[in-house]
Amino acid sequence: MIEDTIKKLSEGAPVEREEIVKILGDTSDEAMEVLRAAADSVRARAVGDEIHVRSLVEISNYCKKNCSYCGLRTNNTSLTRFRMTDDEILHVVKKEAARGRKTIVVQSGEDPNLKPDRVCKLIREIKDAADIAVTLSLGEYSREDYFRFREAGADRYLLKHETIDPELYAKLHPDCEYSNRIKCIEYLKEAGFQTGVGIMVGLPGQSLESIADDILFMKRIDADMAGIGPFIPSPDTPLAGGPTGDLRLTLNILAVTRLVMPYILLPATTALGTIHPEGQRLGFRFGANVIMVNATPPRMWENYTIYPNRLRPEADEKYQDRKLQLMIESIGRKISTGFGHSARREERG
Ligand code: SAM
Ligand code: SF4
Repeated sequence: MIEDTIKKLSEGAPVEREEIVKILGDTSDEAMEVLRAAADSVRARAVGDEIHVRSLVEISNYCKKNCSYCGLRTNNTSLTRFRMTDDEILHVVKKEAARGRKTIVVQSGEDPNLKPDRVCKLIREIKDAADIAVTLSLGEYSREDYFRFREAGADRYLLKHETIDPELYAKLHPDCEYSNRIKCIEYLKEAGFQTGVGIMVGLPGQSLESIADDILFMKRIDADMAGIGPFIPSPDTPLAGGPTGDLRLTLNILAVTRLVMPYILLPATTALGTIHPEGQRLGFRFGANVIMVNATPPRMWENYTIYPNRLRPEADEKYQDRKLQLMIESIGRKISTGFGHSARREERG
């Protein structure tokens, strides 16, 4: 019985991969409501009602890699490439801090221009400019580089593992090593980062079994964050024209992740909001407790086209903040005023 397994999960009991597969695969209204209610109650008990709002700045769309799903891949020559200067980035950081944001997520393609020295300098400048937590999402670097970023003051690092299935990973990443991705995640943890991993849902060739393995992997490595969003086919990539990841399956994955890892930071992802107008609100109801709001200047945002039809940030920031607040209050939740660091740390004692 699925209900029994969900109950077992809510009580923190270990479950088998096959049991997770069964829960994930049942997208009937009745089963999803049982799962949602369980995840919502574990979320409330473990991390409370607060939602952490992060500001996201996308600092470069140059990328040396060729991930077959991503619009920023190096072989996509139809893209106008941009790089923000440090001054432009700091301008955004100060503006977002003045707006009350307590985290800046600095994301980029794997831009050869983002040498470790420059990243360290940028982290220090951000920390000097504002009382703000820094999450980096800049891709793969060496162990030594990650330690340097941490010493420079960065707090968190998001490096999605994308899929834990080595064959699927190899198919999607012609120029990346699966083993290196996993090693990088281990280095990040060693360096003391609050470490985020995560997956895309609905990748061609991905099975429910491999998604169950993804969840078990996140649990095994004791991840602090998990970015779980639907795959959205991007034009000018080898995966253009395929099906988009399923909303209901993505919600089930969020809920099971919350049950398996009660204290995890779990965003209602932008991709979820892109495939359905209510996607992020639903994400919060299925266990999520974080949202990233895009703060990239519009001229650059236009060209950070990981996938098409990304949620466009409102031009009027006050209006955007009010809209977000109303959405969050409409589900009985509130915006956090703290940094929203990993509660996993407290759990570990
Ligand atoms: N370059 C860094 C990296 O790969 O870790 C950070 C930037 S990358 C654009 C951030 C995330 O975008 C990836 O981890 C991937 O999961 C997601 N992404 C890329 N293409 C996508 C697509 N077509 N649909 C959904 N998510 C996508
Ligand atoms: Fe580059 Fe990241 Fe896109 Fe891969 S997912 S092509 S590394 S930006």
